[in-house]
Amino acid sequence: MSAYLVTGGAGFIGSHIAVRLLQGGHRVRVLDNLSTGRKENLDVIRAAAPVGRFEWLEGDIRSIETCRDACEGVEYVLHQAALASVPRSIENPSDTTAVNVCGLVNVLSAAKEKGVGRAVCASSSSVYGDTPTLPKHEGMPPAPLSPYAVSKLAGEYFARVFSTLGLGTVSLRYFNVFGPRQDPCSQYAAVIPLFAAAILEGKRPRIFGDGKQDRDFTYIDNVVDANLMACTRGTGDGQAINIACGDRYTLLDLLERMCGLLGTRVEPEFLPQRPGDVRHSQASIDLASRELGFTPRIGFDEGLKRTVEYYRRDG
Ligand code: NAD
Repeated sequence: MSAYLVTGGAGFIGSHIAVRLLQGGHRVRVLDNLSTGRKENLDVIRAAAPVGRFEWLEGDIRSIETCRDACEGVEYVLHQAALASVPRSIENPSDTTAVNVCGLVNVLSAAKEKGVGRAVCASSSSVYGDTPTLPKHEGMPPAPLSPYAVSKLAGEYFARVFSTLGLGTVSLRYFNVFGPRQDPCSQYAAVIPLFAAAILEGKRPRIFGDGKQDRDFTYIDNVVDANLMACTRGTGDGQAINIACGDRYTLLDLLERMCGLLGTRVEPEFLPQRPGDVRHSQASIDLASRELGFTPRIGFDEGLKRTVEYYRRDG
């Protein structure tokens, strides 16, 4: 049994990580300020936790004291807390930077101070920007297009520097993660929950641009696998590693598949392309395979089936 801190554990990805760790017999502390996270996700975590193995800490990573308390007695930190939206970062770059950069530095500083074994940090495919080369691989120069992407790149650099200062770190560049519990209600919701909510309400899903932009959609269980591997394998120190499926699907493709699963047809409403959005996104996952032994267990279609079923039942 190991002790883990999951920052952002009341959010979509963090709550899945916390549940899996508890199911694996570990102790889990969640730190979250509930800014975009949800109390319902904490209920799901509690339901998976035998008495005494789950600890909830409501607090903000912008406070170093809070981060110190959160890292006390912990072996691994899975740092997911962030303001995770490109449009939000364009509207309010200072908030995004304060949480995603200064907050991350607090988490890493506290982890180092408290003798944590390894910190795994959530980064993002957005660091690549709109470079034409596909698949995107870690040797390519980053070209961030939004304050959010810059904040994630800065986080990677800080994590790399901390790995030279005595704290083991790995950054995982997630590519469009999806799955149950991803929030469809937020003003900044991601495309799959938004499509699901619109289709189920009989509304036209909104597409920014022509719908031919593509993404390497990655089912949540694969991302959880990668986080656990990054903790325990001990490899990849200081590196930033793509986590994805290695495929790409356009938004039009996605909509058609979701309509097929829900047994309906809807026409999207097309809106102008948004600033900061990238056109094509597909990952090379060779480095993840080499360094972490990662392969995506759940493919796009199976993941989509599970996700659509969740929104039909509980969403
Ligand atoms: P989410 O919004 O569901 O989760 C983020 C969590 O962080 C929330 O629970 C929120 O309340 C918490 N948080 C925000 N600011 C905080 C603060 N100051 N102090 C403490 N907690 C705070 O988002 P998610 O999709 O689960 O994303 C998790 C991580 O993965 C983020 O770092 C995000 O940038 C990264 N990421 C996500 C995706 C994706 O497709 N979902 C893709 C690339 C990277």
